[in-house]
Amino acid sequence: MTILKTVDVTKKFGKFMALDGVNLEVNSGEVYGFIGPNGAGKSTTIRILLGILKATEGEVKIFGMDAWKDAVEIHKRISYVPGDVNLWPNLTGGEVIDLFMKMRGSTNNNRREELIRKFDLDPTKKCRTYSKGNRQKVALVAAFSSDADLYILDEPTSGLDPLMEKVFQECVLDAKRAGKSVLLSSHILSEVERLCDKVAIIRQGKIIETGTLDELRHLTRTNLLVETKQPIPALGDLIGVHNIEKKDQAISFQVDPEELDTVMRYVTQFGLARLESSPPKLEDLFMRHYEGDGDNSHTGVGGES
Ligand code: ADP
Ligand code: MG
Repeated sequence: MTILKTVDVTKKFGKFMALDGVNLEVNSGEVYGFIGPNGAGKSTTIRILLGILKATEGEVKIFGMDAWKDAVEIHKRISYVPGDVNLWPNLTGGEVIDLFMKMRGSTNNNRREELIRKFDLDPTKKCRTYSKGNRQKVALVAAFSSDADLYILDEPTSGLDPLMEKVFQECVLDAKRAGKSVLLSSHILSEVERLCDKVAIIRQGKIIETGTLDELRHLTRTNLLVETKQPIPALGDLIGVHNIEKKDQAISFQVDPEELDTVMRYVTQFGLARLESSPPKLEDLFMRHYEGDGDNSHTGVGGES
């Protein structure tokens, strides 16, 4: 079932086109990664989903309702955590959590206690004394204590240490197991890679890739480390071979999926002594998009000596 859908959403700030035809579709029970560098348009998209901003053009539906016109109705069923949480300075963390939970009409106090313990939060302190990480925790406890159908999380883990990052990931997976949907924006790829069923990559207001991680991996290169009995001549001249580096006795490089067979046939002629391969990482795909045309195979840097 479709929980959230945007069709050709654009957003202009004056003449500046912040979003240019954004299409997203999140189904129930799905964790959807929304990835992109700073300034790509993640938060602007999310503000439109929340009905805080009005799209210049396009359609935004959540639970089948219009994100702008039906925002009040929609908000009863969503939980939102921003990347930079501001809280009432004179309330304690616990009071703020209670307030958020009441506003959402939810009273799951067991879950609240459990999350406060897991996130190692002292709820008796005034919010003004909290670090950024602790303010993030307050918002996360409030969000995951409420029984929402859709969690919209905009870079929610900025300021959390790795241990707490892990607690956060468990919360997301719990929500998923309970059949909830999660939209998680991030520029931390490893986080998204571990949690998300699907991802959309946004850059300069445009979605440049969407799909399951498996689908996107087809676009990425396999990492190889090989050691051969004789040196491999002119490896850098082969089509589909990238980023050759010497590693002691071995060399590492990346291969385009469609050239893997040819490249391996070539390499094995020189007597394999060692072979390691690792699956393509989302990170690599991301970097290629950042690089522009993504082709840096021509330099033949290092390696073929
Ligand atoms: P992200 O969350 O991916 O880092 P944002 O959605 O915050 O990116 O910003 C996308 C672009 O839109 C940026 O260039 C930003 O400066 C611009 N922008 C965001 N909000 C406004 C605004 N209210 N007025 C003008 N420009 C804005
Ligand atoms: Mg942002």
